[in-house]
Amino acid sequence: MRYRFWLVFLVFLPAIFCRASWAEEPRFCEPCVRADEDFLASDVLRGRGSATRDEHLAATFVASLFEGFGLEPGGDHGSFLQKAPLPNPLPDRVQRHLASFENVPRTETWNVVGILRGSDTKTRQDAILLTAHLDHLGVGQPVNGDSIYNGADDDASGTTAVIELARVLSQGKRPKRTVLFVLFGSEELGGFGNRYFLDHPPVPLDHIVANLEFEMIGRPDPAVRAGHFWLTGYERSDLGPELAKHGAHLVADPHPEQKFFQRSDNYALAKRGIIAQTVSSFNLHKDYHRPSDEISKLDFAYMTTVISSMVKPVLWLANTEWKPKWNPGGKP
Ligand SMILES: [Zn+2]
Repeated sequence: MRYRFWLVFLVFLPAIFCRASWAEEPRFCEPCVRADEDFLASDVLRGRGSATRDEHLAATFVASLFEGFGLEPGGDHGSFLQKAPLPNPLPDRVQRHLASFENVPRTETWNVVGILRGSDTKTRQDAILLTAHLDHLGVGQPVNGDSIYNGADDDASGTTAVIELARVLSQGKRPKRTVLFVLFGSEELGGFGNRYFLDHPPVPLDHIVANLEFEMIGRPDPAVRAGHFWLTGYERSDLGPELAKHGAHLVADPHPEQKFFQRSDNYALAKRGIIAQTVSSFNLHKDYHRPSDEISKLDFAYMTTVISSMVKPVLWLANTEWKPKWNPGGKP
């Protein structure tokens, strides 16, 4: 009898330990990086035109994934989708753009909001906000016979980063702070989804400890170390250096003359006082805002390296009571 007990114990011992380590150490899904891009940047989605049915489809895809991860919905009426009315009246430029897409142009854009509620009753009112924009330019002027502006790098790559961080963080032990995973619509038209989110946030804005926007991380930038990406406005706050200390493959923006800190969704949040900066590796490639921004140009090994490098630093940020702050003169 005793012999049989020890036999059973020894057989199941590795499984017990594996289960324990799995529970503590969420696993990053490498094939999922390509799978997300294969859908988001496919010709079927016709370039996820801002405020079009294609953007809506992309948003619905992300919402379904968030639901499967077990996140809490942060959108309208218990859903993950946030319907954001476009401003009325719209600038002529935007009206003409929308009219080129549909039967009656739409009057709304779509955000996706997923919440991983913090486990600690004291610190869960603090929120870490991870964002990207899910729209792109849609169908436009053909270049070399191709009229679909797929936006594989801009910004299906950032959207993929937010999805995969949501997937991995929703496994295992729940962080102490709340983590918000948000995809904005209509960034390309003028940040309309982002503006609506700021007026209808799922938590008070002053509870957001930090915002990391992921924008164009599909190709390495030879201007920085291999396997690294950069943070806009790195010197403006102590967020980037602290994340790098905890393992993030993050360095300073090597293109300050491009003023990227002001050119992404993070800027509107930073103007509201939130420590909000953009993670990118845009290497000033010639496919920017052209139909040739395609999946075939992406470096998936690189994407996997840099996105997965953020898992531990983000988990650290979501479990600490440390708060980033602007450096003197850094707040916009
Ligand atoms: Zn973009």
